[in-house]
Amino acid sequence: MISSITGFIAQSLESVGDTVSEAFFEPVLRVGVTGLSRAGKTVFITALVHNLMEPGRMQRMKAVQMGTIKGVYLQPQPDMTLPRFDYENHLAALTGDTPRWPDGTRAVSELRLSFRLAPTGLFGSLTGPRKLHIDIVDYPGEWILDLGLMGKSYAEWSAEVLTRLPKRPQATAYLAALEGVEPQSKHDEATAQRLARAFTGYLTEARAAGWSDCTPGRFLLPGDLAGSPVLTFAPLPGAEGTRGSLWRENARRFEAYKSKVIRPFFETHFARLDRQVVLIDVLEAVHRGPAALEDQRRAMAEVLAAFRPGANGFFSALLRGKRVEKILFAATKADHLHHSQHAKLTALAEAMLREARDRAHFSGAETKALSIAALRATVEESRTHQGREVDLVRGQLTDGRQVAVNAGELPEDPARLLAPARDGAARWLQGDYGVMHFAPPTLTRTPGQGLPHIRLDAAAEFLLGDRLI
Ligand code: GDP
Repeated sequence: MISSITGFIAQSLESVGDTVSEAFFEPVLRVGVTGLSRAGKTVFITALVHNLMEPGRMQRMKAVQMGTIKGVYLQPQPDMTLPRFDYENHLAALTGDTPRWPDGTRAVSELRLSFRLAPTGLFGSLTGPRKLHIDIVDYPGEWILDLGLMGKSYAEWSAEVLTRLPKRPQATAYLAALEGVEPQSKHDEATAQRLARAFTGYLTEARAAGWSDCTPGRFLLPGDLAGSPVLTFAPLPGAEGTRGSLWRENARRFEAYKSKVIRPFFETHFARLDRQVVLIDVLEAVHRGPAALEDQRRAMAEVLAAFRPGANGFFSALLRGKRVEKILFAATKADHLHHSQHAKLTALAEAMLREARDRAHFSGAETKALSIAALRATVEESRTHQGREVDLVRGQLTDGRQVAVNAGELPEDPARLLAPARDGAARWLQGDYGVMHFAPPTLTRTPGQGLPHIRLDAAAEFLLGDRLI
């Protein structure tokens, strides 16, 4: 009885506003960090936390300028059953004698960062320092895209995917595996597994080729669900299956995926976020060409649609009127470009966000686009080449070579890239864009100075700034 009453009280506090910590009445801000695989989530969180703890390079934050942050420390997180974001090991990887990039995000994890803040307001001197807990929730962007599946039946989802597949070379093996399969024949597990394996192979290859419409997201990042029936289905042609058929069993598993995988994730994590940063590797998409850029823009609209109040019946019911307050879209790895090009990268991210907002009919949360590098791996230099001054970035590649490169000139007007992307162009007419894989820098560190970055402080100011002063 008592536990059910406390459970009720805790729940009502949460629904009043997640800004109250159940135990101590200390404010809590839940910040989601997402983005597709390799967008830069792990590096972002590690660099952000470290730079907040040693804020010498975070001068764009008002709280740093004003000196309101009196202490920052890591605390045990409130969610006992969630893996902790492995901050210490990730930082050790980035700052060791031979720095290396940490392993990226594979599943959801959490980290609580607590602030002691200077008192404010009329009674500040009486109340003493304030506390603020920031719960950072890291989760794969692939999982957000799954929200789109909630409103679809198995037949609808299958039809959509099967229309897409013939245009993609990555799907050849799956389409071959489908040949000779009679969806209305009696279900047999070996066939279901063979098809699910081939379909997962397609998703993995499509993802590697830069496509982001690769749902179900858990097929790519299964966590502890690998091999379970809920991940053993694939799209099949047809509209309705007879009892006991392969089609019917696949449909049953698709429904289980919705209710047992997607729904709990949104209930437990997503619905409780106050702020969200979505990391996008825009440069990689530009490098891959118009189709990849267009696909990224579509994925941004889908992400925004997930946050749109009222967009999805299932999700609106979960939110009970709660809204995410701010969403930041950050184009990562800006250190691949000389700063003379950063404004163009930001303009491109802004234009993509604007269109994504229009597409998703999004209103509500405050949104912003930025270009950042969570960890700056390059230095800038200018050289004269054939009588012309060229802006370059220099760094060490992951294979050990030192290079100075110009990754390609982004256009002043983002429409020069976005229009051909929308029109389905096969490749860029002007310009060629390369992507290098730089190793993390070897640093000489000064206490109080976090890691070098580009506009990580501007990102932090947008996401957290108002709560730190
Ligand atoms: P996740 O899969 O979203 O967690 O991505 P990670 O944080 O693991 O980043 C993926 C890869 O992108 C890293 O291994 C690095 O190679 C690269 N990367 C991430 N952030 C930066 C950055 O700020 N600068 C540079 N140059 N590379 C980065």
